[in-house]
Amino acid sequence: MKKLGDILMGNEPFEEILMGNEAIVRAMVETGTKVVTSYPGSPTPEIAAAINSIPEEKRPFYFEFSVNEKVASEVAFGAAVNGNLSCVFFKSVGLNVALDTVVQFSLMNIIGGLVIVVGDDPGANSSQNEQDNRNVYHMARLTVFEPASPKEAYIYYKHAAELAKKEQTAAVLRLTTHVCHAREKIGFDKFNPPPLFRNDFNRDNGPYIPLTSTALEMKGKAIRKLKQAQRFARTKQLNTILFSDTNQGLGIITSGLTYLSVLDVLETTQTRPDILKLGMINPLDEQILIDFLSSHKQVLILEELDNILELQIKALAFDNGINTPIIGKVDDDDFIGEYTPDKTLKKLGTVWPELVLDPIYEDAEVFDVPARPAQMCPGCGHRSAFFAIKKALSASDITVADIGCHTLGFMPPYNIGEILMCMGASTGVASGLSLENSKRVVAFLGDSTFFHAGLPGIINAVFNRHDVTLIVMENGTTAMTGHQDHAGKSISIEALLNGLGIEQVLSCDTYNQERLTDLVRQSMAHKGLSVVIARHPCMLKLTRAQRKKPGYVQKHISIDQAACTRTHDCVGQFGCPTFIRNKDGRIDINLDLCIGDGSCRPSCPEQAVGFDKEEK
Ligand code: SF4
Ligand code: SF4
Repeated sequence: MKKLGDILMGNEPFEEILMGNEAIVRAMVETGTKVVTSYPGSPTPEIAAAINSIPEEKRPFYFEFSVNEKVASEVAFGAAVNGNLSCVFFKSVGLNVALDTVVQFSLMNIIGGLVIVVGDDPGANSSQNEQDNRNVYHMARLTVFEPASPKEAYIYYKHAAELAKKEQTAAVLRLTTHVCHAREKIGFDKFNPPPLFRNDFNRDNGPYIPLTSTALEMKGKAIRKLKQAQRFARTKQLNTILFSDTNQGLGIITSGLTYLSVLDVLETTQTRPDILKLGMINPLDEQILIDFLSSHKQVLILEELDNILELQIKALAFDNGINTPIIGKVDDDDFIGEYTPDKTLKKLGTVWPELVLDPIYEDAEVFDVPARPAQMCPGCGHRSAFFAIKKALSASDITVADIGCHTLGFMPPYNIGEILMCMGASTGVASGLSLENSKRVVAFLGDSTFFHAGLPGIINAVFNRHDVTLIVMENGTTAMTGHQDHAGKSISIEALLNGLGIEQVLSCDTYNQERLTDLVRQSMAHKGLSVVIARHPCMLKLTRAQRKKPGYVQKHISIDQAACTRTHDCVGQFGCPTFIRNKDGRIDINLDLCIGDGSCRPSCPEQAVGFDKEEK
């Protein structure tokens, strides 16, 4: 089977079934994108995986994981004002981090062009919220392309790159989770030899200093560029109408994945409204909207999350004296979750009951699948850490979580982490909680997050002498999003913390559970900020690497059934998913899951958990 990297680098046109995230990489190759940057986050990490499937020496562009989305945006911008088509990609909430920089882009003459790929997450499948970033683009005066499918993701990236280069600006490719992850057969174009790296920065291409009156002049230019984007959308026919013979005067305006849900649902109806599908959602093409509204008796706007299109379209209708009833969001539920076909069907049935006679999706067979709560992997060092740290905590202590695999510590049996905000927020939140508080406050922070946004909170706690214990859960990778490298590969967190003048910085391996409990106790007795680095490599990453080595032998532990008194501490306190508790109370081991690291052994008061070996 051909490797993904070879497929993506093919010279001649070809057809292939690819994921949306992978198809975007082919679009980068074809458009001559020269610099790509990112901070990992779902739903976009497969873009990085696809990039990394191309050996570095063959890759026609430079790629880096930057320390956070803001820095990634700045690196891409710097390369783009040097004349190179560039791209930055990240997840939905990453835009919050990048915003201070991204909001400036439309003011600048970005001579090489810049594409910003943002993976929004309706349904909060892997994010702490389901924020609708379309709210931001209007303020930032950025053109936004919204594909509905992997094929469109590929095509729209190329459109975004073309517009960005032509108008010397930045353009957004707005993806949502299922567009990123769906697979589709796509016809790809030719790949021409990549352009050379450029060093064309010249301040005369600017102005690049948005201060006082210059900022206003630059704003004027940004507004004019948006008008050019409207023309571009018309030329490329990005906003299209799907006419129906059975529309009965009804029309639907939609975009992105919701469009596909609408198509699915209308397969089952006798009456099929006309559909205006918007491919460019900012700025809107006012003329096509006016024509569509004026030519229908009633128009329904179907959009996931916020009522961004609805508010603009209703204002447009008002300004143009159009009296066509426009139906948008009605109840709270309309603002929440993904517009899957069943949700879309329900909405259509509420608005036009006579249209939806056969609610097929409600009748679909539903399987009763047991719930599978998220949990840490077998042998995960974080599990050992929580097991050990819990012994140092009292019931009144407040524990503050952060983003990462270690967030799962909030679940039983550990119940550590009572409040979670966003990347890197734990030390700051803990500092506020510690003020005039007799309770002790313990914050947790992952190592990738430490570099991403954790440092300012730590520096603030040192500067303002906050009384907090910080536990840095160092596993050597950005584990949760697929093991991407982070700055800890070349910069020591311990040295950095010592360099900040923090009086007490302690560290140990998390498998050394007794010592870790002791260090946390010491740290919590300390006045001011004290840090414990709880270190152990990500076992999923380590085990995967070990399995690839010749002669690998899978180890596992075994239970000495004679010694086991069924206290069940292994399942009740330690909680490795490998343990099987039988109805009669007997504990067995799932040999397929167990990696034999033995970190669970200290949890058994009877020392009934021992090492065993088995060749696989
Ligand atoms: S991916 Fe690594 S860090 Fe995350 S839960 Fe699994 S072993 Fe632990
Ligand atoms: S040895 Fe097996 S049961 Fe024990 S922690 Fe590791 S994976 Fe879990």
